[in-house]
Amino acid sequence: MNKYNENAKGIIINIKHGTSKEGPGWRSIIYFKGCNFSCPWCGSPESIPFGKTELTYEDGSKEIVGKEITVKEVIQEILPYQRFSKDNLPYGVTLSGGEPTAQWNFYFELLKGLKYFNFPTAVETNGSSPQFIKSLPYLDLVFCDIKHMNPTTHKKLVGKENKQVLYNIKKTYEAGKDLWIEIPVIPGCNDSEENFQDIADYLFPMKDGLKVELLKYGRHGIYKWKALGKDYPLLHLIPPSNRKMIALAKIIKNKGIKVDIS
Ligand code: SF4
Repeated sequence: MNKYNENAKGIIINIKHGTSKEGPGWRSIIYFKGCNFSCPWCGSPESIPFGKTELTYEDGSKEIVGKEITVKEVIQEILPYQRFSKDNLPYGVTLSGGEPTAQWNFYFELLKGLKYFNFPTAVETNGSSPQFIKSLPYLDLVFCDIKHMNPTTHKKLVGKENKQVLYNIKKTYEAGKDLWIEIPVIPGCNDSEENFQDIADYLFPMKDGLKVELLKYGRHGIYKWKALGKDYPLLHLIPPSNRKMIALAKIIKNKGIKVDIS
């Protein structure tokens, strides 16, 4: 059996139980605190700083986001839900964030612990961890973003290049794991036909069983940027039209790849 360190400690935002999002069946989602990217469109900017963060809302109320927790405490909290199942699928767990792999030790030990208790596991990752492939044996499903195919533009947009991301996606596919690619569509940042053609060409060799979802840019996180005392960097942006989303999806569909829009 996988040995794991139940005392490994991390910092999370919260845990949601009994959701049917971010993976098949019912599951718990653990939102990790801290991200090594700095996407200007981030809908949860309070999840970017590592450590505790104070938010002050317009009405003057305050909230501290982030709490320290051990692997043992997370597992103890989730175990009672294991008896619930939906459509005969066992209860699962998704690690999300922030960026789960950015707290590597906590992430890795938690995954091993969840597998020790036979939970189906998933991660939502930006794909940037150089150690990511080490965690593949403990994962059933990987959600990974592609934000841009051009390494220079990628770095300009989020502060890091995309070489590791593209490598990790390929390795996940080669390991036979379920792979769902999420592409945020951000007007003027990554919504060119050329970028989507490059994404389609890159994904084509992995098309069998692959799921792709285009995520329409939304402005739902603006109030959180304000609560952090920060200016929202994309105030001028208007969400893409449905027509634009369909046109971009078609570029990927034309390669025989299944695409959803949300
Ligand atoms: S990778 Fe995700 S959590 Fe991190 S800054 Fe970008 S959108 Fe936010």
